[in-house]
Amino acid sequence: MHISSINTIVLLPQLPYLDTELEPVISAKTISFHYGKHHAGYVNTLNKLIEGTPFAGQALEDIVLAAAKDPKAVAIFHNAAQVWNHNFYWKSMRASGGGEPSGTLKRSIDNDFGSFKEFREAFSKAGVGQFGSGWVWLTANRGGALEISVSDNADTPLTAGKTPLITLDLWEHAYYLDYQNLRANYIAAWFDKLVDWHFAEENLG
Ligand code: FE
Repeated sequence: MHISSINTIVLLPQLPYLDTELEPVISAKTISFHYGKHHAGYVNTLNKLIEGTPFAGQALEDIVLAAAKDPKAVAIFHNAAQVWNHNFYWKSMRASGGGEPSGTLKRSIDNDFGSFKEFREAFSKAGVGQFGSGWVWLTANRGGALEISVSDNADTPLTAGKTPLITLDLWEHAYYLDYQNLRANYIAAWFDKLVDWHFAEENLG
């Protein structure tokens, strides 16, 4: 998938790894549909929707925040937020990731959740319990405290003024080819092998 770079359109970022590099946790087949069809589809739809509107040429995050407040821009919000969420999701993982965070992030998790084990249990429970499509997030609120939250469909904690640190896509398109209905196994494998705590640490600032 390649979109020519015209600065009035939103671009589909390159994946930070090859589509085979997250195997066996996430297969190349899943990535090919998820990135090449779903994510690219949101980018293409968004660019069609914003063409000739005041949203054209704005930064993606600004489109998300402005469209969230505009009752006439519901479709633009859905597509822009899904582009932003997916951009963030791909960066939340890496080949040979997993394990536990260190440094400031570890101290914050211990402080706000008791331990990494308790955090992982709560994050997994929230992800398994999300009914239907959505996302599970670790965010920092304005005071710096860490929180776990879920969002429905395209919703994103950006619109609540929170700082996302890491996310996991809970839409069936993210895991169904590899795990069928067993979302809990997808979440466990992501924690064991893929989550990129360095990315979360960078976002914590
Ligand atoms: Fe997705």
